[in-house]
Amino acid sequence: KMECNSVANNSNKPHAVLFPFPFQSHINAMLKLAKLLHCKGFQITFVNTEFNHQKLLNSRGPDSLKGFRDFSFETIPDGLISPSDVNAIQEIPALWQSITSNCLVPLRNLITRLNNASASGDPSVSCIVADALLSATLVEVAEEFAIPGVLLWSMSASVLMSYLYYQDIAENVLFPLKEEIKEHINMPINLIPGMRDIRLRDLPSFFWDGKDFLNDLALEAVKRFGEASAIIITTFDALEREVIIAMKSLLPGICTIGPLQLLEQPIPNNQLRSLKSNLWKEDSNCLKWLDSKQPNSVVYVNFGSTTVMSSQQLIEFAWGLANSKHPFLWVIRPDLVIGEAAVLPAEFTEETADRGIISGWCPQEQVLCHSSTAGFLTHSGWNSTMDTICGGVPILSWPFFGDQTMNCRCACVHWGIGMEIDNNVKRDEVEVIVRELMEGEKGKRMMEKAMEWKKSAEEATKPGGSSYVNLDKLIKDVLLLKK
Ligand code: UDP
Repeated sequence: KMECNSVANNSNKPHAVLFPFPFQSHINAMLKLAKLLHCKGFQITFVNTEFNHQKLLNSRGPDSLKGFRDFSFETIPDGLISPSDVNAIQEIPALWQSITSNCLVPLRNLITRLNNASASGDPSVSCIVADALLSATLVEVAEEFAIPGVLLWSMSASVLMSYLYYQDIAENVLFPLKEEIKEHINMPINLIPGMRDIRLRDLPSFFWDGKDFLNDLALEAVKRFGEASAIIITTFDALEREVIIAMKSLLPGICTIGPLQLLEQPIPNNQLRSLKSNLWKEDSNCLKWLDSKQPNSVVYVNFGSTTVMSSQQLIEFAWGLANSKHPFLWVIRPDLVIGEAAVLPAEFTEETADRGIISGWCPQEQVLCHSSTAGFLTHSGWNSTMDTICGGVPILSWPFFGDQTMNCRCACVHWGIGMEIDNNVKRDEVEVIVRELMEGEKGKRMMEKAMEWKKSAEEATKPGGSSYVNLDKLIKDVLLLKK
């Protein structure tokens, strides 16, 4: 296990400011990194938007984010929503645009304030880690305060590589195809070094789904990566070896450190150890329910924090699960269905009462490590993908948008741990694929493969492993350096 350092003299402590992108999955990844750095002797200031801070307090209790030694929370406005309106749903494009253009000034003011407070014995800010989507702000702030500035890319290396090759793909494929793009969605793409067996539809969906506004924001962010002191990617070398090697010649500053949760250490302060960043209230009853089930018997269903679906799709998933006859734990967020409440048919609830449980938000990492969990029906978000690898659990993938299409492809074709469900989901297909996973030969092979990847992730994060070594190097060679 990684050693925790204790630095005696407080004013000499390194002080890291960590600033996640204000989405659930990005906050989770940044908090894991924050705990690791804290354990390595850093003072931490973790910066959320006012709105998300309020949501965290709501889900955890009013005093839940105070009282940790050398670890404090600060907030900045997102420029959009009043923090008192905790039930508001934040629209991704508006929030992305707003935070990108509005966070520089409050972040600069915050660091100035923290540095002024250093007169009273607290260390001044010595480095900053920001979400990679906020690279422009990171680069400017790091330059201004003359401190190392590191980016956290909490997605896969393959997705980052796709963005680095966007211009080539656009000139050769996207622009010539124009309006007919959807008709060629299955064409192979052989333009990206280190990436095999990729189709147009597997590339980040913003390349081809008409969400040009989000595509531009992502591309703008990636343009500034070369100016950061380093770029952390939450993956591990064995998982994406070829693409990581190819990427190093373009972006030498990349640093593969994942899965972060396996690097998480026995943190002396228990309170901090159990600190999580759920924006929704977590329901831990599902762990007790899992305890009551047979080993390897449950299908866990969860589409993450941003995926939405139609009520018809919800119903198709419901009957597919019911008809498979396997036990399931299904997490349904209140806002999962577009424009209306997520309501399941009464017959479904009745019929599956003895084998199904519905929850609002669960401790996913624990669920995926539970011995009763056999498979994961997922939207293939990157953090869920890391969670499932850590749990050694194979997946049924229903990618929604963004990077999920690529994650699905890698899981199904490169890592052998997944099967894909058609976007136009039908109950019969769900039933068949769940049965294949739980009873079939392919399911068995996927389960074995998933266990192999779990071991590989453990190798990467133990002393001497690639992620373990990279974290130590990042700290020594970048974060502790004076500019
Ligand atoms: N998560 C959780 N409980 C849930 C659903 C999700 O703790 O019921 C966490 C999960 O562990 C992961 C994040 O939320 O850290 C989801 O991230 P991902 O990248 O998979 O998807 P996104 O939410 O961005 O679509």
